[in-house]
Amino acid sequence: MTGLQLEHVSKFYEEGGHKIAALQDVSLSVEQGEFVAVIGPSGSGKSTFLSIAGALLQASAGTVSLNGKDLSGLNAKELANVRLKDIGFILQTSNLVPYLTVLDQLLVVKKMAGKITKEDKAFAKSLLTDLGLGSKMSKFPNELSGGERQRTAIARAFMNQPNIILADEPTASLDSKRGHEVVQLIAKEVKSRKKAAIMVTHDERMLQYCDKVYRMEDGQLSLVSI
Ligand code: ADP
Repeated sequence: MTGLQLEHVSKFYEEGGHKIAALQDVSLSVEQGEFVAVIGPSGSGKSTFLSIAGALLQASAGTVSLNGKDLSGLNAKELANVRLKDIGFILQTSNLVPYLTVLDQLLVVKKMAGKITKEDKAFAKSLLTDLGLGSKMSKFPNELSGGERQRTAIARAFMNQPNIILADEPTASLDSKRGHEVVQLIAKEVKSRKKAAIMVTHDERMLQYCDKVYRMEDGQLSLVSI
């Protein structure tokens, strides 16, 4: 089975002797080529959900599998490897390294996973060109607009050709036009390269680009629309 599957996932936090259920019996399957949105109020469990789906946090109960591989049996090093190789994260702010050029922001990902080949460089350049950054490759983050920075972060998320894309409010720091552009680009990559993608968003206007919309409320996930 490819893609990402969560089955009966719960997450409990202990706080001051109280047990908080941040996620309660959440099940979800995202196939390759599918773009799913998760909406819901603040405090409903969206970040916890994305952290568990992204192998950053272990579930208290239930199973998470990625391309058929159960994550619960993996140790910290193996989980770090899954995050590096199989998952591309796109966060609210672009989190670029200030002293690296646009091209190097992508190549440094390869460096972490091994060493940089000629093919890696060519792939980085083609990704940046696809994302409209062909003329910005030697610029530094402070020379880019907010939208360009976020597109660089998207290119970086795709650099290791991960199967799974997890986006946490990717439009939060962008104006409406740039926001649409960024989510359209994610949708295009999901379709053309057959990624499984989940986007947490507050922005209802972005739901038109998604195949399914789920709502998180009090730690429970329900399907809103297909
Ligand atoms: P959202 O992303 O939708 O705002 P979160 O996943 O951050 O929701 O939080 C879900 C619930 O879990 C909230 O009640 C929050 O206070 C609680 N929570 C989140 N992280 C922790 C933590 N590390 N320790 C204790 N409680 C937490």
